Amino acid sequence: MDIVCDNPLRKTKDSLGEKKGGKPIWYCCQCGLGPMIINTTPSCIFCNQHTRCGGCDTA
Ligand SMILES: [Zn+2]
Ligand SMILES: [Zn+2]
Repeated sequence: MDIVCDNPLRKTKDSLGEKKGGKPIWYCCQCGLGPMIINTTPSCIFCNQHTRCGGCDTA
């Protein structure tokens, strides 16, 4: 007897746990606009004054 998968539900659960896309984005805490991509946009392109800080909302 071959045991191919002892718990199919476990695999599904792991897949759901992965984040979509994988691109880290952030929203400016100064003007509230976004999202912007952290890797390519380190400072806000909307208010053009704020560099991403710990107070900015990230996802
Ligand atoms: Zn801004
Ligand atoms: Zn900020």
